Amino acid sequence: MEKILEVKNLHVTFKTYGGTVKAVRGVNFHLNKGETLAIVGESGCGKSVTSNAIMRLIPNPPGKISNGTILFKNQDLTTLSEKKMRAIRGVDISMIFQDPMTALNPTLTIGTQLIEGLKQHRKIDASEARKRALEMLNLVGIPNPVERMKQYPHQFSGGMRQRIVIAMALICEPELLIADEPTTALDVTIQAQILELFEKIQEATGVSIVLITHDLGVVAKIADRIAVMYAGKIIEIGTKREIFYDPQHPYTKGLLNSVPRLDVKGKLKPIDGTPPDLFSPPQGCPFTPRCPFAMEVCNKVYPDSSKISDSHTVNCWLKDERAKQLLATTVTK
Ligand code: SF4
Ligand code: MG
Repeated sequence: MEKILEVKNLHVTFKTYGGTVKAVRGVNFHLNKGETLAIVGESGCGKSVTSNAIMRLIPNPPGKISNGTILFKNQDLTTLSEKKMRAIRGVDISMIFQDPMTALNPTLTIGTQLIEGLKQHRKIDASEARKRALEMLNLVGIPNPVERMKQYPHQFSGGMRQRIVIAMALICEPELLIADEPTTALDVTIQAQILELFEKIQEATGVSIVLITHDLGVVAKIADRIAVMYAGKIIEIGTKREIFYDPQHPYTKGLLNSVPRLDVKGKLKPIDGTPPDLFSPPQGCPFTPRCPFAMEVCNKVYPDSSKISDSHTVNCWLKDERAKQLLATTVTK
């Protein structure tokens, strides 16, 4: 499979009065062409920082990509000039945020915004641009697009506004779409419709999607693969099936236990404790204080990535051969 995106050893830091926050600490993952990778985790785990880093939207200062490479179609985005990056944003890579209002200009009609977005990046005449804008509104399911083009953002419901934002993000036919909590601000029924829309769009355009979410329900619906982040690291990554039916990391298991499921009766079990302070993250496994299986080694050394299958890896000492050896030597002595 062709890789469209490959993130290697990504580190992002933020300087604050209180010290340096290590928000992303050595993240590795790739995205195949045409697939949806979901990055999940609690708030503050570094998932949005990771997606902003791909778009080079980390404000510097105080933020900084302090290490790593972000290969998009084999070019390293971390080394591009701001000018080159501007040419990529919105054209090759588009981003959708949680609140559709931040992406829309309240003083311009929807039609003007769609057409301007396109004309900025493409040499295209007015009637072509208008035709394309109408096509996009049709694709995202806005009824009466000819009339709706003349209206302003406040004349649309929240769900409709998010559809318009999606149309704007896709109008230049990007190859990669990054969606950061795209349904969080919406009602549950509208959420489901927007998720269906993502699937439809992917089928129609072949766009590759990185979906950032804290909501495993969203992931269950549209992800092909899932990366679980904790304290600035990806601690497990696998296909949707592997993560849902064969989770390996105690944190992933905890996350799954804390989601309501139709097939399991009983109470939700939230994970006790809080994630570590990222001013001075622990050397070892950051989940140690919350983990019911923590061993001595966990606190001291960060576990390597262990391979469960060709598509599934986990960073946990429970799955690390070296831990078994360590335990075996203690037993025989
Ligand atoms: Fe728990 Fe240790 Fe695995 Fe971390 S490495 S999740 S503390 S068993
Ligand atoms: Mg899909």
